[in-house]
Amino acid sequence: MRTLIRNGRAALPDRVQDADVLVEDGHIVAVDGPERMGPVTADRIIDAAGCYVLPGLMDFHTHVDDRIGRFYLADSYESGTRVALQNGITTLCTFVTQGPGQSLAEAMAAARAKAEGRGHCDVLWHLTPTTFEPADLRALETLLAAGYRTLKLYTTYKAAGIFASYGRIEDLFRRLAPLGAQFMVHCEDDAVIAAVNADALDLTRAASHARLRPQQAETVAIQRVVDLALTYRAALHVVHVSTAEGARILVRNRAKGKLSFETCPQYLFLDDSWLAREDGHRWLCSPPLRSCQAELLELARAGEADVIATDHCAFRPEDKDSWDGKDLRSYPNGLPGIGALPHVTWKIWEDDPDRAALGLSTHLALNPARRAGVQDRKGALSPGLDADLVVLDPSGPERPLRSTLVPAFEAFPGFTSRLLFRHVLLRGDPRVENGQLLEPDQPQGLLLQPSPATLPLH
Ligand SMILES: [Zn+2]
Repeated sequence: MRTLIRNGRAALPDRVQDADVLVEDGHIVAVDGPERMGPVTADRIIDAAGCYVLPGLMDFHTHVDDRIGRFYLADSYESGTRVALQNGITTLCTFVTQGPGQSLAEAMAAARAKAEGRGHCDVLWHLTPTTFEPADLRALETLLAAGYRTLKLYTTYKAAGIFASYGRIEDLFRRLAPLGAQFMVHCEDDAVIAAVNADALDLTRAASHARLRPQQAETVAIQRVVDLALTYRAALHVVHVSTAEGARILVRNRAKGKLSFETCPQYLFLDDSWLAREDGHRWLCSPPLRSCQAELLELARAGEADVIATDHCAFRPEDKDSWDGKDLRSYPNGLPGIGALPHVTWKIWEDDPDRAALGLSTHLALNPARRAGVQDRKGALSPGLDADLVVLDPSGPERPLRSTLVPAFEAFPGFTSRLLFRHVLLRGDPRVENGQLLEPDQPQGLLLQPSPATLPLH
């Protein structure tokens, strides 16, 4: 099967230009200006006039089909990948977290049972190990040898059992960085948070959340973890950076090692005034919304944030509104975002559509594919890669953003977009037209990594 996408404006890895894209048997075989492609026969021709042609997008950081504290998330693998694919996201990255009394292999088997056959787009797992006995470390080494790349660590959340001390992180950097591990670290210093005098805060007000988890907690943790990564030459990706100062630490040190970071649409377009609203508890997330949003947006506009990802973590409205009004720390923390990601990212450069298209292709495709270790399959309009392709019309009808398709509070109320996903192809197969799934009952997404059932993990 050969498909030709013609007359579009293509976002190549380093520039945007008029170009046709030829697809054969699920892979990109040629990207070229129409005059150079020559006469081509194709079984299917897609006219992309007036549209951008982008590599399939990736949301590098999402939480679906999992329990966070006592709350079960609103999105399943099915609904999370559905809203993703409808919005041009062909690879959804999500987490498998080792639970109490469980091996990572058992957690992966449980996640696979929930995910298999339900993904409308491809799914890639980041692994969150939480115990580090010799058998756990051997299992991680086996997974790295089998092609898993990304390990998530937390410098906070002791009560949830996922905290890793700086000593532990140092140990893992030393041992696993030489094996190709890419470390994703949630940076909020637990000691800084513990030193905040919560008794002096009004815990009935959501606005106090930003004081319970101050900016300094993020910057202290980022500096510590960056220093360790540089010492052990570890590939470090700091997740959901919420402060301009934290971002600057990473920018300053980037040339010295393998450092990258992501920020999220909520830290670019929402500030702490949302927490002060009557319904401000609905915007509780960690790290909190900040007052330095404009500075962070400026850094993102300059291209400094390697990856833009959502940290999508949608809760049901009844859970978000379940608060007894006494202590905001008992509340679910997290915002939905998958369906809003490309639209809000576009707004960073919306005065310059070519720049915005290049921004999506760089920060939502190329860079996340590299960080995930799948750049040989995903992330660019390059011959040989999977034909995950997006034909994006920047001038569709204006409509409100929908971060998720399941019942949950919208994180970006009042925000609108004119981006219309005319066509989305998954490995060459047309799956979406005009923002709607063509075969909603036949998900075709793959789990991109090998089944742990085939791996000896101990
Ligand atoms: Zn997260």
